[in-house]
Formats: sequence, C-alpha cells, structure tokens
Amino acid sequence: MLIIGSHVSFGNNQLLGAVEEALSYGANTLMFYTGAPTNTIRKDIDEETTKKALDLMKENDIDINNVICHAPYIVNLGNKSDLDKWSFSINFLKEELKRCDRMGVTKMVLHPGNAIGITPEEGINNIIEAVNEILSADAKCKILFETMAGKGTECGRNIDEIAMLVKGITNKKRIGVCVDTCHIFDAGYEVSDFDKYLDEFDKKVGVEYIECVHVNDSKNECGSHKDRHANIGFGNIGFDNLLSVIYHKKLEHVSKILETPYVGNSDDDKERLYPPYKYEIMMIRDNKFDKDIMNKIRKEYK
Ligand code: FE
Ligand code: FE
Ligand code: ZN
Repeated sequence: MLIIGSHVSFGNNQLLGAVEEALSYGANTLMFYTGAPTNTIRKDIDEETTKKALDLMKENDIDINNVICHAPYIVNLGNKSDLDKWSFSINFLKEELKRCDRMGVTKMVLHPGNAIGITPEEGINNIIEAVNEILSADAKCKILFETMAGKGTECGRNIDEIAMLVKGITNKKRIGVCVDTCHIFDAGYEVSDFDKYLDEFDKKVGVEYIECVHVNDSKNECGSHKDRHANIGFGNIGFDNLLSVIYHKKLEHVSKILETPYVGNSDDDKERLYPPYKYEIMMIRDNKFDKDIMNKIRKEYK
C-alpha cells in the first residue's frame, strides 16, 4: 500500500488539526513541526487533543508509526564553538523526542547540522557526539538523519557522510535516514537512476535504515547544491523519475512526504498561497501527470 502525505500545520489544534489537514488532502500519513521550524518556542502537548487525534487516525487507517515529526532546522549539532548553544540544541532535541513520545510519534527527522568554520569530519564528529548524548536520555522516538543538498556547510551531503553519521551512533535501534529526492538530486545524484543510488546506499549504509522519503521536485540542476523544492513534475527531476522512487519495491513500507511549495494565486502573483498536496497526491495515485493542476488548485481554494 502506498503511504503518502505531506507537511501539515501543527499550529491549529496540534496533532488533531494536523490529522484533519492531512485527511483533507486524501493523505494516509503526515509530517509536522511541533512549532515554527525557525524557532525553538514550543507549547506543551495537550493530552485531550492528542487522544482525539489518535482516535481520528484510527477511524481513517492512519498508522501512527508512519507519522513523522520534523525537528526545527535552526538547531545545529555540528558546531561546538559556542558550547552553550550546542548544549541548548541537545537539550531541546531531548525534549522534542519526549514530546513525540507523548503523542506516540515514533520518528523525528533531523537535518544533521552545519560545519561552520571547521572541516566536514569535525562537524560530523560533533553531530555523532551530540546524537549519542540525545539518545542516552530515556525516550522511544527515533532520529532520522535527512540527506542534505550540500548547501553551504551542511553535513550529510552524500552517502559517505550519511554512512559516517550512522556508523557513529551507538544505539542503532533508534537511528534511521530520511531520503529527500530534491536534496540528493541537488547533491549530485541522478534520480533517473534511483536503483544506482539505492545500491550504493545499501552497500555503505544499509537500505533498511531508510524510514522516510521526502518527495520533492527540484528547481535547479543535478549537483547545484541549492535546495529549492519544486512541485511534483514541475522541476528538473520530473514526474516519472519521482514515481520510480515513490513506487520503489524496496521502499514500499516507508512514508512518502511531500514538501513542495504552495501555489500562488497566479503564475507571477504570490499574494495568496494555496496548498498543492491534495492534487499532487491525486496525480501520484493516478500515476499520471496533470499539467493543469495549478489552475485546479487555485479554483479549489480561491
Ligand atoms: Fe528537512
Ligand atoms: Fe526534506
Ligand atoms: Zn529542502
């Protein structure tokens, strides 16, 4: 069975609002940030609301094990030059895993970190040390390292770096990987030959570590290291190549999450923005690209 969903908002009634939004897109999974991705201000998880959300998920056959939390992207475990900041990040992520546990969410995606002013190896070692510390605290939720585009000083920009990260983690039961199609493409891997990517990944990391896929097209060329997501079929990866990832036999049990950009009210006006996910999920389920979806999205949400 295809497990597909998108990024949804947690701001509107926490997990309950997130599930309702996912259902409105015809999704059977979802991903959310527990607050703004750009800050670390977080509210307590409301028990009553969570219970209602879990009931709603049960009614609609959404398996909580497929639901993904995304850590805020300003948290950086790669750099220890400011020890206070580094410790703050570690403590924040320990708390974030506890918040996931409280909802029964089992997977949290993390951008590994940035190696600012140090070598990539040093950055990777800092991340390993931090994640081992985070996982030493009592919690159940796993951490999934996201594959990165290699923008600036990002760690995890190729399979070798992901392999180093995973190898360094002591508690292998609580570590996994999230493959982002836009990121691997921008990092220099052709998604048109995804089997080649998976073969190399399997040799160096182990394909069993892949527990989430971010499905995004890319606005830039392969190897551009830019990291700008495009709507499905509207970028340089292309619809059929993305389908080859989404329907890959080896990744059948893995959540596919869309993080594609919202659509503007016209091609050059972005004053109002509409979510593309319902229509992108429809295209994916139909296995058929629809070049007219932008207009359909505008019509629906106007
Ligand atoms: Fe991400
Ligand atoms: Fe992503
Ligand atoms: Zn990205």
